[in-house]
Amino acid sequence: MSTVSKHLMQIQSMIHDAAIRSHRDPQSITLVAVSKRQPIESILEAYDAGQRHFGENYAQELRDKALALSHLKDICWHFIGNLQRNKVKYVAPTAAVMECIDSVRIAQEFSARARQAQRTVDVFLQVNVGEEEQKSGCAKTDAPAIARQIRQLPGIRLTGLMTIPPFHLEANETRLYFSALRELRDSMGGQNELPHLSMGMSHDFQEAIAEGATMVRVGTAIFGDRPPKPEE
Ligand SMILES: *Cc1c(COP(=O)(O)O)cnc(C)c1O
Repeated sequence: MSTVSKHLMQIQSMIHDAAIRSHRDPQSITLVAVSKRQPIESILEAYDAGQRHFGENYAQELRDKALALSHLKDICWHFIGNLQRNKVKYVAPTAAVMECIDSVRIAQEFSARARQAQRTVDVFLQVNVGEEEQKSGCAKTDAPAIARQIRQLPGIRLTGLMTIPPFHLEANETRLYFSALRELRDSMGGQNELPHLSMGMSHDFQEAIAEGATMVRVGTAIFGDRPPKPEE
């Protein structure tokens, strides 16, 4: 068995146990394998082990990988990075879920590009719950108004919220940010309006599940350390 598939099984069983501990249905949680900067071979290993949702952070890398793996019809790409407007054209035709919409402007561009590609793409609103200055994501207080405007746009469908808590926190500390995102969601119409909460990474996905995550984004714990950043 490959290392990747062994890690996948371990993570899946940890997801299962965390769900049971929180009295949740394990099926309601999707593992997004974050494959950014990992080679195609690693993605194929995971795919062969049954993994279907993959997360990418760089627009051109997503485009290239989606093209290389276009024969795998049931693969679901999640875009989970900062996206400049001029790179939306690489993501809108390929992503199943765009998790990082944080302004009406980027949503409008995404909407236009998705329509050009004759697609309707699920999008999440990224919220900067930690209110960190350099972090992308909209402010909590702006989220309801931005969500209302996104809902007017064709070609995209707002189905969830996403957050990245401040880095270098212990898992028990990030939990506060996860509960803040859930409370925000509940104040914005609840699960009926926004069924998805994307939160939790390798070191804190179990805490995120306890707070209601429906998508956890796990990279290192599946694929190991990432190769260094490519030149932008
Ligand atoms: C890289 C990344 C992850 C995965 O992080 P790991 O610590 O490797 O699990 C999850 N979410 C986002 C937005 C990322 O950029």
